[in-house]
Amino acid sequence: MSHIAFIGLGNMGGPMALNLLKAGHVLSVFDLSSSALTVLAEAGAGVASSARDAVADAAIVVSMLPASRHVEQLYLGEDGIIQGMRPGALILECSTIAAASARKVALAAAAADIGMLDAPVSGGTGGAIAGTLTFMVGGPSQVLDSAMPVLLAMGKNVFHAGEHGAGQLAKICNNMLLGILMAGTSEALALGMANGLDPKVLSDIMSKSSGRNWTLELYNPVPGVMDNVPASRGYRGGFGVDLMLKDLGLAAEAAAGSASPIPLGDVARALYAEHSQSGSGQLDFSSIIERFRAVGAGEAQ
Ligand code: NAD
Repeated sequence: MSHIAFIGLGNMGGPMALNLLKAGHVLSVFDLSSSALTVLAEAGAGVASSARDAVADAAIVVSMLPASRHVEQLYLGEDGIIQGMRPGALILECSTIAAASARKVALAAAAADIGMLDAPVSGGTGGAIAGTLTFMVGGPSQVLDSAMPVLLAMGKNVFHAGEHGAGQLAKICNNMLLGILMAGTSEALALGMANGLDPKVLSDIMSKSSGRNWTLELYNPVPGVMDNVPASRGYRGGFGVDLMLKDLGLAAEAAAGSASPIPLGDVARALYAEHSQSGSGQLDFSSIIERFRAVGAGEAQ
């Protein structure tokens, strides 16, 4: 079993760290939120007073932070933790960030004789809790082989996408599709409801028809249709609108850099931006359905 430092214990990182503890690893954890630290301390993790303190004796460092700037600050900033890590240690960077940021961290790590994999995840908070996440990994395959036992303590599927940054590119393509699917599913459900259909009945029909998709079957955006999804708890927890907006921005950057047209990605980005600006940035991204229900909502309920 390894000594693992875990930085970033939010909606995803918290349950992922708990699964590492359950698998018998020794954990040092750090987060800016004291309530997040308390949960891990009660489960048996050692709470560090800083990120630098957390990584000092760790063989593996897992990070799960909001965005590129947090990750670059953590590893490469003034008090960056790479300088405080043991040579021969390994970084598993699981946040969704720009491929260029992942490559920067990998280069700086290599210069300090530290291995690095970009290993963003899919599967949502449900997958993080159940330990069934999908990892999309960028970096050398022999490094990935050594990381497998730790990744499989948090997930079920591990894909090697290519060299450093490739895991992030795969994740960005996936999340652009997810953002489009959630918006499209919301539009279809809102249309049905505005015309008198019961959203549960409509969801059941479309789940067995050609419109079926992950958001409809596992993450329904209409409150009350499904238990244990953010829509049924006031869109709290889950995957924030601002995080989806960040990912659609990363997709737009990747598209600009490769001259790839992404008209649907652009429309989805504009929708989530409008939703965030209306004050919903911290709500789960399935609350995008409110954009489609604003006009005449409740008319034919
Ligand atoms: P979150 O906002 O719930 O958690 C982020 C955590 O990082 C918070 O607890 C925050 O206090 C902590 N943090 C921020 N800066 C820090 C720092 N400098 N040092 C220590 N801790 C710091 O976000 P999340 O939903 O857990 O998402 C984390 C990452 O995973 C994001 O990149 C997101 O895009 C990605 N992701 C999220 C989901 C999801 O369903 N929520 C799914 C797949 C991927």
